[in-house]
Amino acid sequence: MIEMKDVYKTYPNGVLAINGISVKINQGEFVYIVGPSGSGKSTFIKMMYREEKPTKGSIVINGVSLENLKEQEVPFLRRKIGVVFQDFKLLPKLTVYENVAFALEVIGEPPRNIKKRVLDVLDLVQLKHKARFFPDELSGGEQQRVSIARSIVNNPSVVIADEPTGNLDPETSWGIMRLLEEINQRGTTILMATHNKEIVNTIRKRVIAIEDGKIVRDETRGEYGLYD
Ligand code: ADP
Ligand code: ADP
Repeated sequence: MIEMKDVYKTYPNGVLAINGISVKINQGEFVYIVGPSGSGKSTFIKMMYREEKPTKGSIVINGVSLENLKEQEVPFLRRKIGVVFQDFKLLPKLTVYENVAFALEVIGEPPRNIKKRVLDVLDLVQLKHKARFFPDELSGGEQQRVSIARSIVNNPSVVIADEPTGNLDPETSWGIMRLLEEINQRGTTILMATHNKEIVNTIRKRVIAIEDGKIVRDETRGEYGLYD
């Protein structure tokens, strides 16, 4: 479970990005984070994987309080949380296989476990046949599938996706959504910040709407709302 209590975030330049958020997300939920540009969606999710720290308030993920987390413990948090970005962030000089394996190598996974696990997740995202390709030899949708494979290769309990379909055409975006739903059906919590109105209004899930750094709406099977 993820629990935020009275969280505030002011950036060093004085911008108040998160203005008092409290929320609970249970294991296995699928949650869309919606709201206008600049409303605080990215800041909200960055605080969950410790890319940003709250100025005030507490965040607890699976019983671990991020407040008391020491810098050297951050990699352990990152094992529990997979992250997917709009622009994929694959390493261009590594193959598909190596991009995914890298996530396991950095946490010291024994080499004998790595190959099977990498090939299993590449199979899940239907890219095993492109294991030896480099990112620039793949379409945008394929690159996003590699980045999803990388995000789940550690078996995290949560996958956080910031605009995962933002750079993809509609048809490719639906494929990415089917994949995220499949991962969710295996028990992984999914938090997805998105501007994709059609997806939110078609694949109905919990919707948390953020405006001016506050939660203004939280609905179990919500709609996108009126944002651009
Ligand atoms: P969203 O993801 O909804 O577009 P963000 O969380 O990126 O919103 O931004 C919320 C507010 O915080 C905006 O006013 C934005 O300009 C500001 N902001 C975001 N990141 C930083 C940063 N690193 N430094 C200063 N201000 C930032
Ligand atoms: P399987 O026998 O389970 O079908 P393979 O061992 O044939 O799987 O591997 C599937 C794909 O992954 C192939 O393209 C293969 O070249 C690639 N691959 C397997 N192991 C590695 C590795 N250690 N480094 C890079 N690519 C690999």
